[in-house]
Amino acid sequence: MSGKAYTYLQKAKAEKFAIGAFNAANLETIKAVTQAGINLKSPLFIEASPGEVAYIGVNQIVALVRSFEEDLNLPIILNLDHGTDPQMVKQAIDAGFDYVHYDAGKVEFSEAVTNARQLADYAHKAGIPIESEIDHIEGSSADHTEQASESFQDAKLYTNPEKAQKFISETGIDVFAGFFGNLHGLYKTPKHISFEVLAKLRELNPDTYFSLHGGSGIIEADVIRAISDYGIVKVNVNSEMRIAFKMTLQEVLNNTNEIAIYKVMAKPIDEVRKVVEGKIKLFGSAGKL
Ligand SMILES: [Zn+2]
Repeated sequence: MSGKAYTYLQKAKAEKFAIGAFNAANLETIKAVTQAGINLKSPLFIEASPGEVAYIGVNQIVALVRSFEEDLNLPIILNLDHGTDPQMVKQAIDAGFDYVHYDAGKVEFSEAVTNARQLADYAHKAGIPIESEIDHIEGSSADHTEQASESFQDAKLYTNPEKAQKFISETGIDVFAGFFGNLHGLYKTPKHISFEVLAKLRELNPDTYFSLHGGSGIIEADVIRAISDYGIVKVNVNSEMRIAFKMTLQEVLNNTNEIAIYKVMAKPIDEVRKVVEGKIKLFGSAGKL
């Protein structure tokens, strides 16, 4: 398969780096992410969850991202993040997304296989890759900083590599998102990765790409190891950006009488940009355009 998303997945795998997948909930986060990409000459995923897509509008987010991509001459892979409704995944493909993630973490295995196979065909006809998952990745992209990550890391819920292999071979998906300690969200204690699960997944599926969800608050050494030694090519980041945006905006608003909203946005955008730049450096995608 060719096309922008495939090109960068192949490059990332060959050169052992990962591309950050940053959630964009509004114009401000898109500005922050693209500025970081330009500053560090890094390819990017910009992604939106069904909730974020509903907020911005499916056609509007495509138009926005395309216009930034053209004006900045920056490759941006637009992804539907955690699409649980197959109809919505198809809608994103029809609207011009470059990549889709079908989340089958909450449906029976047989239904997951049927849906993922149909959606993989649909995505491939449009020339784009599809990511999928069958094990619900626990946690959420919320502020869990009062809770220890260990209380959510239940190894019984981790991906079964054999089951994943069956799913991948029966559906033809390109990218697999497993659960091996990588909770969604930011916690009081850093999250660690179960490399046993990841190693087995990779051994059984050498031609599959792997995506790491829950990229906020994982021990940095684990992230680096997952990318350099275990073939992770995409890392999702959301919570740390959300927290930076909200905290900074709150602080700015508490200290100004300014009513021109665009004027109070400069600082939150800049703080989110710093988070994104830190991740790009960690994932090794700087200079990989
Ligand atoms: Zn996720």
